[in-house]
Amino acid sequence: MLNIDKTKPVLVTGATGYVAGWIVKRLLEEGVTVHAAVRNPGDVAKLAHLDQMALKLPGSIRYFKADLLDEGSYAEAMQGCAIVFHTASPFRLDVNDAQKDLVDPAKLGTQNVLETANKTESVTRVVLTSSCAAIYGDCADVANTSRQVLTEDIWNTSSSLQHVPYSYSKTIAEHLAWEIAKQQTRWNLVVINPSFILGPGLNAQGTSSESFNFVRQLGDGRMKAGIPDIGCGAVDVRDVAEAHLRAAYLPDAKGRHIVSAHDSSLPMIAQALLPEYKDYPVPRRILPKWLVWLVAPLADKSITRKMISRNVAYAWRADNGKSIRELRMSYRPLQVTIQDMFQQMIDSGQIPKP
Ligand code: NAP
Repeated sequence: MLNIDKTKPVLVTGATGYVAGWIVKRLLEEGVTVHAAVRNPGDVAKLAHLDQMALKLPGSIRYFKADLLDEGSYAEAMQGCAIVFHTASPFRLDVNDAQKDLVDPAKLGTQNVLETANKTESVTRVVLTSSCAAIYGDCADVANTSRQVLTEDIWNTSSSLQHVPYSYSKTIAEHLAWEIAKQQTRWNLVVINPSFILGPGLNAQGTSSESFNFVRQLGDGRMKAGIPDIGCGAVDVRDVAEAHLRAAYLPDAKGRHIVSAHDSSLPMIAQALLPEYKDYPVPRRILPKWLVWLVAPLADKSITRKMISRNVAYAWRADNGKSIRELRMSYRPLQVTIQDMFQQMIDSGQIPKP
């Protein structure tokens, strides 16, 4: 049982997001007042799922307008809050300008939110949604670790503005968060580093999160010919939300936490949809590496030959032991996670019925 202080509100940045939606839900279930920072509080349709939850659950929600790039814009939302969940950061792989579209919002946004925490006396803890992307850049990096397994001691050193810029954005944002946290003592920083997050969204239409783009491709026929053998971790969005709550309310929580349920790969995730969805064009075979190397960059400008060379046909392994020992996490099976998500995307028309 978590000892949750319901007398003080908490702030969730990027409350419209996929992960944040489930964090808000858990907080509302516990009877907490949530200050939801969103870019446009007037966008009724985008907030409808949060409003509906607040109607049914014991907690309450208040919206505040804030933007990662607008310095000081989180000050009003943070007023009186004990805990800040900083989840907002773009998760997109296909961008025109990596600096402007990924790095600036991730880095300047983290600086903006944490400097506001420095000025807000009520804040005692910040829970940052980082990523396993801040731990490794390419699957080839996993093989180069001392035990061929990712741990919280490892940092991504292979990503850059030119190579896997999303992972670079998460790495420099988390580095900066630790730097800012270490310069003061009033609040402590607890970091969640999830692997690839899957599972149903609370807003059935999804968000721009890459999690939905990937699962859509599994079902709409674009991967019918086959799927590249790219290793990754996988974790259910509901478990990720639970990890955030524990990071916030377990008094001894500290440091980084790999939150990943399964050492997996894109073909293994597709495989978990079969045989339940055998009538759908879910990829059934693995594409040879040479073919992916040759064709994928022509089909998708966000994919480079270097990315393929360093990510296809490598095993992905991470040690999730700290999350189990210290956050007392238990994880859902992969099949439940991916099937729940796939079914929701069929029901909401995002994946066509065969
Ligand atoms: P998401 O649904 O796209 O959520 C991103 C959130 O960030 C949205 O609420 C978005 O607001 C907000 N945001 C983006 N730019 C902003 C800006 N300039 N100002 C204010 N808010 C801004 O993606 P997600 O998958 O839930 O990701 C949430 C967090 O989890 C991110 O930090 C991501 O790096 C991390 N993460 C995700 C995964 C994964 O597999 N999904 C894995 C590991 C870590 P709008 O709704 O207005 O666009």
